[in-house]
Amino acid sequence: MGSYEGYCVKCREKRSFDGEIKDLKNGSKAAQGACPVCGTKMTRMLPKSA
Ligand SMILES: [Zn+2]
Repeated sequence: MGSYEGYCVKCREKRSFDGEIKDLKNGSKAAQGACPVCGTKMTRMLPKSA
C-alpha cells in the first residue's frame, strides 16, 4: 500500500488515494485505489522501471 496522486473523474479533482501497484498486460505498472471521497476507482500510471 502507498499513497498516490491521481485524478478522480467523478469529483473532477486531483486527489491522493491509497493504492496498490498492479502489473499491467502491456508491461507497465499502475497504482490502483479508490477515491477517499466518492469511492470511484482511480488509476495512476507509473513508469515501467521504478
Ligand atoms: Zn471522487
